[in-house]
Amino acid sequence: MKNQLELLKQLQHIDTQTKDIRQSIEAIPAQLNPAKQDLQKLETMLVGERKQIDETEIWRKDQEDIVEREEEALVNAKSKLAEAKNSRDFGAASREIDNKKRSIHDREQEILKVYEALERGRAKLTTHEEDVAKLRTHVEGEEAKFSESLSSLTAQVEEISAGRSDIESQIKPEFLKRYNVVMQRRGSAIAAVVDGVCQGCHMGLAPQLGIQVARGDSLHSCRQCNRLLYIPEPPPETDEDQSEAS
Ligand SMILES: [Zn+2]
Repeated sequence: MKNQLELLKQLQHIDTQTKDIRQSIEAIPAQLNPAKQDLQKLETMLVGERKQIDETEIWRKDQEDIVEREEEALVNAKSKLAEAKNSRDFGAASREIDNKKRSIHDREQEILKVYEALERGRAKLTTHEEDVAKLRTHVEGEEAKFSESLSSLTAQVEEISAGRSDIESQIKPEFLKRYNVVMQRRGSAIAAVVDGVCQGCHMGLAPQLGIQVARGDSLHSCRQCNRLLYIPEPPPETDEDQSEAS
């Protein structure tokens, strides 16, 4: 029984140590997520900005094509004016020339405004692209760092757990089952009894149970927390200890 308890204590020692490391491993994606989400949001924003610039560019091109056609129409109207045989034709051609000129002028003003807007848009896009590139580099750096610490943590877990299956194989299956159930529920499965008190839940044991645990002929559980109980060995009192204490 003493040996079984010793093995269970070793198992708990390993599991407690690896539990913290496993938690650190599980926390890694959550630590990366905010920066990754920011990056994704900004990248989507860039796509929107580029799309808007492209659309404006198409609109500008259309307007310039229209101006080109209007200029051709203006040339036609001017030759009509030159060929006008009567005042009615002359008046119509003059009005057409005036209309075309006004229309071309107005459209050119619009195109000019669009050019300015495009320039501002492109400058803004460049700044945003630089910001996103910086953030991307940062996220990639973080990912590399986290992947490095992930490997190191995984290696630590493996190192600590090296003898675990060997220990486990020496524990009676029914004890192991009880250990696993309590471990999962409480985070620790073995508790020392000091002065009749379970050190897992800090409740006093019934005197009869205290005696049974002290006898050590079977594995007993705390009635409150279900942890498997043992009486710790008294610390060896050597001369060295006493000189350190004084
Ligand atoms: Zn207890």
